Amino acid sequence: MFLTESNYYSQQANWEYLSVSQYKDFIGTLGKPGCEARAMAKLRGEWEDETTTAMLVGSYVDAHFEGTLDWFRAKHPEFFKKNSELKAAYQKAEEVIQRIERDEFFMLCMSGEKQVILTAELFGAMWKGKLDSYHNRKSPYNSIVDLKVVKDLHERFWIKDLGQFVSFIEYWGYDLQGAIYQLLEQAVYGGEKVPFSIAAADKQKTIDIEVIGLKQRDMDNALLGIEGNVKRIIDLKAGKVEPVRCGKCDYCKFTKKLTAPISTDMLIEV
Ligand SMILES: [Zn+2]
Repeated sequence: MFLTESNYYSQQANWEYLSVSQYKDFIGTLGKPGCEARAMAKLRGEWEDETTTAMLVGSYVDAHFEGTLDWFRAKHPEFFKKNSELKAAYQKAEEVIQRIERDEFFMLCMSGEKQVILTAELFGAMWKGKLDSYHNRKSPYNSIVDLKVVKDLHERFWIKDLGQFVSFIEYWGYDLQGAIYQLLEQAVYGGEKVPFSIAAADKQKTIDIEVIGLKQRDMDNALLGIEGNVKRIIDLKAGKVEPVRCGKCDYCKFTKKLTAPISTDMLIEV
């Protein structure tokens, strides 16, 4: 299947190709545990994750830089109040866009080729990826840039298992995203890996912006264990193994069947 703008997110494309977000559905990130049962239900069209306002605000800003904002707004009448003014969350998205556009370097980072679709075989599976802003190998600013809108750029997330705080980059697995985009780009164009950065804005009262260049070491580390995980996902998608239910996500709660009482302690197990 050849991927285009119109079939990139289709069910068929998701069956044929693995993507970073599908990988995260199965395996999880520090911030959001994966669930094989939920990931498979999504592929079968039996489950859709809730679309949050925060996600839509991100898509709003993405749409602006893709040049599809008019179309995106027309598709979402719920962005507007009765008097046809934008609701507060989307007014903030407009403010984010204006803040970004005031910064020359941020705009340079966003000036690459937009929404470039790449596919390649990695770790035994076909992958797809879509680059927000790609400065190709002839460009003086040769790099891959991904745009993110977050709550607070400087938020620290406590990870009990690591005994340390991490930034939003590690928490949401953007180091893994960078690592995969690098490999896709390299598989298509050859040569060395290209630098990856996150161009980010937050939604604090006074908006903060940064372009964060990810360390190659961190991206390489994010790939540890990926081979085994991909093998497992391939077997799950082929129906060779049964998906495990995490027991905690919305899908597992929604579909669970009780068979026996649990003990009191199990209620507060973490
Ligand atoms: Zn689950």
